[in-house]
Formats: sequence, C-alpha cells, structure tokens
Amino acid sequence: MSLIDEPLPPPAAPAEAEKPAGTLRPASGARLVDPFGRHVTYLRVSVTDRCDLRCVYCMSEHMTFLPRRELLTLEELDRLCSAFVARGVRKLRLTGGEPLVRRDLMRLVASLSRHLACGTLDELTLTTNGTLLERFAAELAGHGVRRVNVSVDSLDPERFRTITRRGDLHQVLRGIEAARRAGLKVKINTVALKGVNEDEIVPMLEWAHGEGMDLTLIEVMPMGEIEPGRLDQYLPLPLVRERLAERFSLIDLAERTGGPARYVRVRETGGRLGFITPLTHNFCESCNRVRLTCTGRLYMCLGQEDAADLRAPLRSSASDELLMAAIDDAIARKPKGHDFVIDRRHTAPAVPRHMSVTGG
Ligand code: SAM
Ligand code: SF4
Repeated sequence: MSLIDEPLPPPAAPAEAEKPAGTLRPASGARLVDPFGRHVTYLRVSVTDRCDLRCVYCMSEHMTFLPRRELLTLEELDRLCSAFVARGVRKLRLTGGEPLVRRDLMRLVASLSRHLACGTLDELTLTTNGTLLERFAAELAGHGVRRVNVSVDSLDPERFRTITRRGDLHQVLRGIEAARRAGLKVKINTVALKGVNEDEIVPMLEWAHGEGMDLTLIEVMPMGEIEPGRLDQYLPLPLVRERLAERFSLIDLAERTGGPARYVRVRETGGRLGFITPLTHNFCESCNRVRLTCTGRLYMCLGQEDAADLRAPLRSSASDELLMAAIDDAIARKPKGHDFVIDRRHTAPAVPRHMSVTGG
C-alpha cells in the first residue's frame, strides 16, 4: 500500500531519461531529473555500515557488518560524490552507520571541500551520533562543514545507554559542545519511541531550544529486523504534536528542505521544531535526494528495495562515462514514493536492510 496521499505533477521526463539504454551521455553537466520531474540535488552517502552504538530502533544487538574489503575506498567515494556534484548535486551529507568511525574520514571531507571552495557545492554536512565529535569537530569546521545533525534520543544517561545499548550520554554532550565551540551549527535528531522517550519530548525541546539548537523529531521507520517489534516502538508524530500544542504555540513555517521534515516555530522558546513523518504523512512528491551506500549501491528511495550498482561502472573504467550512464539509468527509475506502514497487519520491515546501510 502506498502512503502517498497527494497527486504528483504529470511526468515531465527529462531528455536524458528518454535516451535508450546504451546511448552515450555527456560526461557532466546535464542535471539529474527523475521521471516525475523532481530534480535530484542532494546526495546522502553512508560511508560505513559500522557503528559504535546499537540503537534499539536501528540495529539488532548482534549485527553482521560488511567485510572491510567490500567497502569503496575513500578515493572511490570521492569520485562518486564528485560525479554527482558534476551533475548538479548541491548538498552532500555523510552518514552511516556512524560516519566518524570510518578510518581517515577527514581525508574524504578535506578532499570534498574543494567543491565548496569552487562554489559547485552549497553544503557538505554530516549526521552523527556525536560520540567522536569532540575529537573531530574542529577539523570538520576547518574543512568547511558548517552544520551537523546529532542524534540524541534521551537526556537521561541510563535511558540513553539503554536506547543505544552502550552509549555514554556525557561523551555525546561533550561532542555537541565541541562542535558548537568550533562554530558548527548543531541540529538535534530524536526518534520518538512509544513508552521509551515520549515523556522526554518536552524536556528535549526545552534543552535544545534553550541551547539555540533546532530539534527534529522522527517517526520510527520499518527498516531491517530488530528485536523489539516496530509496533511496540512506533509513536505517531501527529499525536506528539497534539500534545505539544496543549502547552506551546506551534507556528507552521513554510521552509522546506526537499526532504520529509516539516517545521514549526515554537513561540515560547523561539526555536525551530521539525517533524519527520514518513508513516503518517510522507512528502515524496518533493523528494530531491538519493542515497549511496559504502559499497557503491545507489538507492533512489529510502523505503524501496531497488538500487543501482555504481561500483562496477566506477571500477571498470578510469573515465566517468559508464558511471554517468549508470547514474542516468538509476535516476530514471526513481520511484514515486515509499510504502512504509506500521500497524497490526504490517509488523515486518518494509525493507530488509537496516537504516545504517542507507544512512537515514
Ligand atoms: N549514526 C548516525 C546517527 O545516529 O546520527 C548516522 C546514521 S543514523 C542511521 C541516521 C539517523 O537515522 C539517526 O538520526 C537515527 O536516529 C535515525 N534512524 C535510524 N534507524 C531509524 C529507524 N528505523 N527509523 C527512524 N529513524 C532511524
Ligand atoms: Fe548507530 Fe546511528 Fe544506528 Fe544509532 S542510529 S545504531 S548511532 S547508525
């Protein structure tokens, strides 16, 4: 069942997508436009599937990670990202797994920052659990990173440890401080979990806004097998919003990132609050993003299984011609939207891979 509830504009297939398979494409320049007329300007890159935490909604306790030899090298990741930048991608987000556990990640960040310097990229950013931010914040800022998203699901150290199965809240808070000292703007991401942190949403909001940080709440998505059932974790955000509205004045903002978040200004705190509601209300019609895994698979939608292998064309030739053709073919297959649903009849994952593979 699709959760798409609004009609999409009529297909306006780009000239590139209409070319028969095998036709040579320009090596760079042509914008990436999907069959629904959506411009792909945002690439999220999962640089590793590994992580130093095991959040209960994201991973199972015992995960099998990819053998290291399967990973693209940092140079290959750079080449792939740069190919997307050449095709009009303006924003790159490094994610994972935990991006900061990837060895020498700063080399990749430094190298990608050349696109910022020459103005072909607007933003190079990161989503992190914050455990290693204290160590890397200054370097990230030095390479032109301006903002980071940090995931924090509880401000109670014990509860934080339970949710992450091993995390140290204080280490993360030190990381956030270091990031802010380095001049990075920090946004906090919190997955709303039924019966786990729903009583903390107000304190989280007051803390984040009190510190001048935006907060985004996320509905848990049915990705990958995990030990507790999804139905047990799923807390619909419209319900959370209703509860917040009893206490705060929430003023809708028109700001859009092309992503699934919708924002309100909280009058009492002055801060911004985002809601990512893939389950109760998706916004696939304005989706501007695709996701690359650390093995070179390109997912055109977080909630669908179809993926394109970019590693083979990348490795088969030093020129980017085959790679560009593979990217065009992939974008021409970007689906209309995802099919996430969690209810009593749908407790199995919508997709078998965990969020850590495609990076959220
Ligand atoms: N390790 C980093 C972190 O935790 O921020 C980056 C990767 S993590 C997969 C990216 C985001 O996805 C985090 O904000 C995390 O809370 C969220 N996430 C992970 N699994 C999720 C799920 N099943 N449903 C909703 N959000 C999820
Ligand atoms: Fe690791 Fe992030 Fe997944 Fe938590 S949400 S297990 S920190 S990848």
